[in-house]
Amino acid sequence: MTANIVRLGAIQDVEAYVPPAASFDPAETPGEVFGENVFSLSVMQRRLPKSVFKSVAATIEKGTALDPIVADAVASAMKDWALEKGATHYAHVFYPLTGLTAEKHDSFLEPVGDGTAIAEFAGKTLIQGEPDASSFPNGGLRATFEARGYTGWDIQSPAYVLENPNGNTLCIPTVFVSMTGEALDHKTPLLRSQQAMSTQAIRVLKHFGHAEPENVVSYCGPEQEYFLVDNHFFLTRPDLLNAGRTLFGAKPPKGQEFDDHYFGAIPERVLGFMHDTERALFKLGIPAKTRHNEVAPAQFEVAPMFERANLASDHQQLLMSTFRTIAKKHGMECLFHEKPFAGVNGSGKHVNFSFGNGPQGNLLLPGDTPHDNAQFLVFCGAIIRAVHKYGGLLRLSVASASNDHRLGANEAPPAIISIFLGDQLADVFDQIAKGGATRSKEKGTLTIGVDTLPDLTKDPGDRNRTSPFAFTGNRFEFRAPGSLQTVAAPMVIINTIVAEALDFCATYLDDKLAAGEEFNIAVQDLLSTIVADHGAVIFNGNGYSEEWQIEAEQRGLKNLRTTVDAIPEWTTPEAVELFTTYGVFNERELDSRYEVAIEQYLMTVGVEANLTMEIATTIVLPAAIRYQTELAQNVAALKAAGVDADTSALEAVSAPLGALKSGIASLKAAIEGAHSHEGIEEALYVRDTVLTAMTDVRGAADALEGVVADDLWPLPTYQEMLYIL
Ligand code: ADP
Ligand code: MG
Repeated sequence: MTANIVRLGAIQDVEAYVPPAASFDPAETPGEVFGENVFSLSVMQRRLPKSVFKSVAATIEKGTALDPIVADAVASAMKDWALEKGATHYAHVFYPLTGLTAEKHDSFLEPVGDGTAIAEFAGKTLIQGEPDASSFPNGGLRATFEARGYTGWDIQSPAYVLENPNGNTLCIPTVFVSMTGEALDHKTPLLRSQQAMSTQAIRVLKHFGHAEPENVVSYCGPEQEYFLVDNHFFLTRPDLLNAGRTLFGAKPPKGQEFDDHYFGAIPERVLGFMHDTERALFKLGIPAKTRHNEVAPAQFEVAPMFERANLASDHQQLLMSTFRTIAKKHGMECLFHEKPFAGVNGSGKHVNFSFGNGPQGNLLLPGDTPHDNAQFLVFCGAIIRAVHKYGGLLRLSVASASNDHRLGANEAPPAIISIFLGDQLADVFDQIAKGGATRSKEKGTLTIGVDTLPDLTKDPGDRNRTSPFAFTGNRFEFRAPGSLQTVAAPMVIINTIVAEALDFCATYLDDKLAAGEEFNIAVQDLLSTIVADHGAVIFNGNGYSEEWQIEAEQRGLKNLRTTVDAIPEWTTPEAVELFTTYGVFNERELDSRYEVAIEQYLMTVGVEANLTMEIATTIVLPAAIRYQTELAQNVAALKAAGVDADTSALEAVSAPLGALKSGIASLKAAIEGAHSHEGIEEALYVRDTVLTAMTDVRGAADALEGVVADDLWPLPTYQEMLYIL
């Protein structure tokens, strides 16, 4: 039996793959199923008494408090609806600090003593739950003896029925807090930060003549990148299985150099997967829109239409779990890790965001002549201030052990946070700095030179893919978030820092007007103050270049290269002041975030270090030794036969084999050394010592992959995983 039998088996299975039968009626258009499993406003309108519906709708649309009396009526209607949809259980769904989704399931049926059971679901059960909080990270917010945690319905995120072959579940999106009301999750601060942003945005809007502006909402449209690999490969790679990324693997002879994957034809099997996911997402009311191949082989993207940030965030989590489940049905694994394959482009999750409400529309819409759109310029100016003043927090919001492999790696924006405005806006802000904006660059036309094709309109500014934070016409796009992350984390920071900046703008205008200044002059003063104080964050050049690293430093911009550099940003005096002023986190909550960030970092790298040891010792080393033995026997046999023995192949395997052995010994020592450090010190140690030792082990193992006989090599190779789908 050869060592590569598993690999060969996997390849055979992939070849023999037959797509599963369609799980839906292809004649049914996606539009027909959209929102089918959602307890939406329109379902509520049909099923609730008029007065109850009005009260619920006001809470959803205007953010007024939920009247407890209506909860019972809503719960009862929701239960009937869910039972009709085949639900047997209900679950409060929450978003703990692991970044994953958690659910506490309960049965609708309650025994009534005479041997029967009735379906019970009271208003109290709808709006509040009590999962045991002890198994979720809390960073010291909860002593183990007070394990209580509470979930509370986020009424702005509708309940839905999740289908499962073993029975359907009514899912209720909730916040998750400790007994003392402190946030144990990502959703609570997200809701708080939206409220803070809205309060300040309303103050600014009032200056622009809107008498009683409605709540301002932050919208978010996340673009998600992911990889698909065949399940056979996935299951035979302990690193992919347990860490979500390959810790070993030599660069394939054919990488992504040819650029032949980007927007290329989508393989049939992947298309089948995409059809299924789209259908499932539509049923759940998730408006997934575009799909195309990404730069790397086996990499793809999905971009749902933007929605209210808290809903977008819940939908994003649901999208990821849906993708994982459906990929398995198609015999594949969906990888959301930021860097599953070294040397191949990683995956991000671009967070597109804007602010607005019904009557005022999108507040980041510049119009054709942004220079005379003062309201837009103030909102845009506020964002410039926010990003400059709190770049460290934005960096922090995307910090994770896994995203460290991607940020700053010439495929993703650098760890330096700067803003790209595009030619048109950059020019307007330039004019503001020089005393006042009087003109806007116009849209051009693009002449293609083919008579039958119409001229295309050309945007006034080009795109800049190297910028972490770019204005893209009617929204900003934050490109640093990692593919595995929840979008709630960056959205909390964006809302809060924009709240601070809008507060600054509103107060500035209040003061100037009180001092008798004319409104237009006051706005011009405000904008030129912002450009003078915060213009250093605007950068339209190449973010990947070496020069930018140097220039950014001269401009005083932070360059927090790794997660460990970013974690202390949670508890700086500026952060404490910011978050407590706007009621987004209290000090205890900030301390807990700091603790959890360190804990998560140590856990991730710890697991990877142990896996590296295990794979190197039990998989790579034995394969290399077998091959070495084979070669040594060959040399001995040749010598015995009196033939000149060529030992070059033996030497070629012995050198990296020696390096592997010493690498394993160093890694073992590095892992043990971590015990003598604690907290952030341990994280620093792990980053500088353990990760380096892992890289050395990998280097030796990857070199061996290039020399050991293929039939002795047990791990699926990059070539196989990336090109066999
Ligand atoms: P592009 O290729 O230009 O980045 P995509 O269509 O792939 O555009 O995705 C852009 C994302 O931005 C989508 O999720 C989309 O819903 C979102 N988006 C578009 N307009 C807005 C907006 N005003 N606010 C927030 N997100 C938006
Ligand atoms: Mg984009």
